[in-house]
Amino acid sequence: QPAFQVNLLRNDFPILSEQVNGKSLIWLDNAATTQKPRQVIERLSYFYQHENSNIHRAAHELAARSTDAYEGARQKVQNFINARSANEIIFVRGTTEAINLVAGSWGEQYLQQDDEIILTHLEHHANIVPWQLLAQKKGLKIRVIPVDEDGQLLLEEYARLLNPKTKLVAFTLVSNALGTITAAKTIVDMAHAAGAKVLADGAQSVSHIRTDVQLLDADWFVFSGHKIFGPTGIGVLYGKEALLNSTQPYHGGGNMIKDVTFESTQFHPAPSLFEAGTGNIADAVGLGAAIDYVQKIGIDNIYEYEHFLLNYATKKLEQIPGLRLIGTAAEKTSVLSFVLQGYTTTEVGEALSREGIAVRSGHHCAQPILRRFGLESTVRPSLAFYNTCSEIDTLAHVITSLQPRIK
Ligand code: PMP
Repeated sequence: QPAFQVNLLRNDFPILSEQVNGKSLIWLDNAATTQKPRQVIERLSYFYQHENSNIHRAAHELAARSTDAYEGARQKVQNFINARSANEIIFVRGTTEAINLVAGSWGEQYLQQDDEIILTHLEHHANIVPWQLLAQKKGLKIRVIPVDEDGQLLLEEYARLLNPKTKLVAFTLVSNALGTITAAKTIVDMAHAAGAKVLADGAQSVSHIRTDVQLLDADWFVFSGHKIFGPTGIGVLYGKEALLNSTQPYHGGGNMIKDVTFESTQFHPAPSLFEAGTGNIADAVGLGAAIDYVQKIGIDNIYEYEHFLLNYATKKLEQIPGLRLIGTAAEKTSVLSFVLQGYTTTEVGEALSREGIAVRSGHHCAQPILRRFGLESTVRPSLAFYNTCSEIDTLAHVITSLQPRIK
C-alpha cells in the first residue's frame, strides 16, 4: 500500500462523517459527483462574505476583489491542465455545456453536409446527443469506434473509420461506465494526421490522471468542476487560442463585446468571447480552491493510491460468487461496474444503501456501451482518493451477504 495519508485527508471532508440509515456514510458514487473539502466550502463562504460583486464592469473595490478571485481561478485551471495561456480557459456550467458550446459554435460554423464525426462506443450521452442534434440539422454522418470484450477501444477499427471526410473526433479519456482509460495521445495524433479536429472529454479523468493539454494536443478539452471536488454548475472548456478566436460565439450579450451599435458588434477575444452575461463567479473561485487542494496532495500521488485501491477492490469483487464485472481492460481507473446473478441492479443498490453505502445503479448516461455488453444497467461503485480498503471490505461484505438467488 502506498504511503498515502488517507485518514488525515478524510478529515477535510465534513460529509464523510455523515450517518445515513444509522450507518457511517461510505461514498462510492464519485463518478457521479465528488464530495467537497472544507477548503472549498470555506472559500465559497469567504467569497460571499468579503468579495461578492459582479466582475469587470465596475470600478470599485469589491469589483476588483471578485475580478481578481475569478481571474485567479482561471490561472489555477491553466496551470493545472498546463494550457499555454489563461485565454484558453473558458468557464462554463460543466462538461455538457462545454460540448454543446463546441457543437453550437465551431460545429455550426465549420461542418457541412456529408462531413463525418467519429465518436467511441464508450461515450457518455453528453458526448453523443449534441453531435446527433448537429448531424440531423446539417446532414452529417456519425461513425463509432467499437470496443473489445474488455471494453477497450479497437484502434485498428478507428484507423479504418478515419477518412478525408472526417472533420471531428470526440472521445472520452476515461469511460464513466467501465473505467477504461483510452489511448488518448494516439487517438489525437491519428485524428490530426487525418486532418480532423479533436475534442477530449476529461470529465472522468481530471481528478484521477494528470492532465497536460499541450502534451495531449487535443483542440478542445472539457471537464466539470463537481467531479474534481469543486462546486456544481461550473466547468471548463479549454480550446487552443487561435481556434477559439476563429470561432463565432455561441451566446451574445454583455461582457463579451468591445463595442455595440444597432448595426454591428465588435467582440472581445477568448475567453470573454464565450462568456456572455454574468457567469458563475463564486463557483469558479470555488473550483480554483478545489484545484489548489488537489495540487497540494499531488495528482500523481492520487493516481498511485487509487490504482492500488482499484486493484484491491477488483480482487475483492472478483471473488464474490455470481458477480460479473463489466469492463476488464488492463488500463482502468476508479470505476467498477458489475451485475449480480439473481438480483436487479436496483435491488443491489438498495441493499447497499441500507448499510450506508452510496453507489450508482442504472445506465450511467452511457446506454450504448452497456448494451454492447447486453445490459441495460449495472451497479457502479466509483472511487476517489478519500476511499479506503476498509470501505471496500464493507462493500464486498454486504454484496456477499445477499442470499444467493439463482434463477
Ligand atoms: N462525460 C463523462 C465521461 C461524464 O462522466 C459526465 C458526467 N457523468 C459527463 C460527460 C457530463 O458531465 P456533467 O453532467 O457534469 O455536464
